Amino acid sequence: MATEQDQTEAHQNTEERQDKAGIGPSSFSLFLETKPPSQMLSVTNLWLNPKNHNFLQIRSPDLQLHCDSESCNGTRYFRYKSGERELYNGSTQRNIFLTYLCSNCEVSQKMFAIHVVIDRESGDGGKCYKFGEYPAFGPATPTRLLRLLKRDREIFLKGRRCEAQGLGIGAFGYYRRVVENQKNMILDQIIAVAQRVGASADAISQLHAAKNETQFTKAILSVKDALPQSLLIGGHHNPLTLLHKALSDGLHARSDEHCLELAQDIRLVLADLADRLSVALKDEAELNAAIARLGKVGLNDL
Ligand SMILES: [Zn+2]
Repeated sequence: MATEQDQTEAHQNTEERQDKAGIGPSSFSLFLETKPPSQMLSVTNLWLNPKNHNFLQIRSPDLQLHCDSESCNGTRYFRYKSGERELYNGSTQRNIFLTYLCSNCEVSQKMFAIHVVIDRESGDGGKCYKFGEYPAFGPATPTRLLRLLKRDREIFLKGRRCEAQGLGIGAFGYYRRVVENQKNMILDQIIAVAQRVGASADAISQLHAAKNETQFTKAILSVKDALPQSLLIGGHHNPLTLLHKALSDGLHARSDEHCLELAQDIRLVLADLADRLSVALKDEAELNAAIARLGKVGLNDL
């Protein structure tokens, strides 16, 4: 149940978000939500002094975070669940762990490990250093793409974190590894779509043959014409050709900025492909179920 203190904090939290913080010190909620680890930062609304007792308490504002559970898959409110937040006897520093729980699905958790330094003179501020958080810091990634990547999900998320911090060569390297590792899985999904849309036997055998080609760039180039129409971006851009272009280009000694652009392109094309694969396979599954149902109706009517 939300206490009065929690409600007050939630209210302040909203006001601060409207302030468009980013210049000057962050509120504690924005620090938790948006700041990457490993920086000592000035923070406001960090602590309170309940009833003037001989201790201070670190605040636990509601947070808006991405929840990647199947039922949420979007930004949700997370509420404080556990973690010691008290500083006694005039102490000004403490390492704390905070655990938050998604208030929508009540399944996803977020944990923060933080070093806090209280500035008693400031009234409610101080400094904070995030050792880390779990799941790791990084912008949201579509659930369908993460599901597609399965065991390479963590490598992909490392690429995402590099990208978020402008580390182009790093992001490109991680994404290339993911795409190369998952080549056959991506081809399997494309084959499943090709079979369902009634592609020619020739196209399907080309797709199968590409699975034996060890080099990803060669493999995708060999099957670009065998790709089902429904997987083309905007009806005519071939995602395999785009991936081939981006991955081949980055092999040369390109600048960090250029690699960052290529990494963004690879991620966007992969996310779009994951969406199209998922929709194509789902639509077809629904269609088959409808055909089966209608088939039964027909038989009974005879
Ligand atoms: Zn959730």
